[in-house]
Amino acid sequence: MPGKPEGPAGPAAPETTVSVTGWGRTAPTAARLIRPRTYQEAANAIRSCGARGGIARGLGRAYGDAAQNAGGAVLDMTGLDRIHAIDADGGTLLCDAGVSLHRLMEVLLPLGWFVPVTPGTRQVTVGGAIGADIHGKNHHVSGSFSRHVLSFELLTADGQVRTVSRGTPLFDATAGGMGLTGVILTATVRLLPVETSYMRVDTERATDLDDLMARLTATDHRYRYSVAWIDLLARGAATGRAVLTRGDHAPLEALGKATRAGRAPLAFRPRTLPAAPGFVPDGLLGRATVGLFNELWYRKAPRARVGQLQRIATFFHPLDGVPHWNRVYGRAGFVQYQFVVGHGQEAALRRIVGRIAEHRCPSFLAVLKRFGDADPGWLSFPVPGWTLALDIPAALPGLAGFLDELDEEVAGAGGRVYLAKDARLRPELLAAMYPRLDDFRSLRAELDPRGVFVSDLSRRLGL
Ligand SMILES: Cc1cc2nc3c(=O)[nH]c(=O)nc-3n(C[C@H](O)[C@H](O)[C@H](O)COP(=O)(O)OP(=O)(O)OC[C@H]3O[C@@H](n4cnc5c(N)ncnc54)[C@H](O)[C@@H]3O)c2cc1C
Repeated sequence: MPGKPEGPAGPAAPETTVSVTGWGRTAPTAARLIRPRTYQEAANAIRSCGARGGIARGLGRAYGDAAQNAGGAVLDMTGLDRIHAIDADGGTLLCDAGVSLHRLMEVLLPLGWFVPVTPGTRQVTVGGAIGADIHGKNHHVSGSFSRHVLSFELLTADGQVRTVSRGTPLFDATAGGMGLTGVILTATVRLLPVETSYMRVDTERATDLDDLMARLTATDHRYRYSVAWIDLLARGAATGRAVLTRGDHAPLEALGKATRAGRAPLAFRPRTLPAAPGFVPDGLLGRATVGLFNELWYRKAPRARVGQLQRIATFFHPLDGVPHWNRVYGRAGFVQYQFVVGHGQEAALRRIVGRIAEHRCPSFLAVLKRFGDADPGWLSFPVPGWTLALDIPAALPGLAGFLDELDEEVAGAGGRVYLAKDARLRPELLAAMYPRLDDFRSLRAELDPRGVFVSDLSRRLGL
């Protein structure tokens, strides 16, 4: 591959010292931000990153401290964003790890292909998608991102580049390994064929948590994509009321030839609204405002509607339409809390949802989903069961202690929290949540004995 590192020589990548945060904007730390333009520059940066080590960063959409490294180097990989090859017959892609899923959609959709898994934003890189082994609304059918990765090239601590194929320990340590095994330079990914850039979506309301779980359990298998927005401020009989949106890629015949959609069935035209204001008064997203929003959101949703056509961007990435929406939480930022508990742990889920509702967490971005089979990544998050993700303003009084209590409850139910969202988990719970942690640590100790790859997350949790 052109530009593959050969030795220590070569130019240095541009670098600046900046304050780095995750998407939640909590816990900023200063680091040398290095932006390699070639694989050689990436290798040079790793070889010379110094005692505080280095970590790869994509588009910084991890909510917590996974892609930051206080006093060390952070490699901004978005300068390496080429698409090298698309096999339009076989449906595979070879690209740099710094390319975003947004860019891939722009290029692939007109060719009739889609990314195999997309999270709730398309502003993530392929490297970040593998590093966190991200999941999407199709996890119950398609598993997580790494299931669709055939191989990748990994720059390791010794400055070498290894080709890593699926089914090997290094693959399984890297998929979900939060950048701690090395820097992914390129990846070969299997794609999903689609006939249109539209989704056919069914919407329904659930009156409470039990109703929601029953609907998801009974009918999720009919849909490739499934998720439920859940009102975590509703209490009493309405606790856990929700709006389910489920669907699949619309076939050509669903569009109608004479319509705008039918004339350009594979067009990708995401809409963008004005950016969220740079300054929002702290406390704006208090219980009263969010409670009102949730009430309106629930009531405006149809009780049952089938077959609505939606653009891909509307269905998967509504928040991407508002640039910098994370500013609405004010100066203190916000915490995303996402956990999973296995099937059979419905009582634990009920208790946790009840506690969140009683605690009156002002959360308007809360979703519940059923995960399917796990993938082999040692620190990969999804396991079969129920996952709940919610945003909470970081300034909420008593939040740290409350989330510590929820962690205990999650760990007690054999569940885990998602490292890509985390900014505050206590390290002593990690081994119970991630049983392959020792394998991960052993492989890292062998592959990276000097501890070159390090992040604020890895220091905090002793990964
Ligand atoms: C609005 C929103 C919705 C989201 N929805 C979901 C969702 O539905 N499902 C889900 O799973 N996640 C979701 N996320 C989280 C997001 O998908 C992950 O955090 C993802 O890893 C971010 O990718 P990134 O390119 O921004 O990586 P960053 O945030 O920059 O980094 C994330 C991790 O990947 C590592 N990494 C990045 N690039 C490389 C590389 N080249 N080589 C090695 N390691 C690398 C970093 O070291 C870090 O540990 C969401 C985030 C947002 C903001």
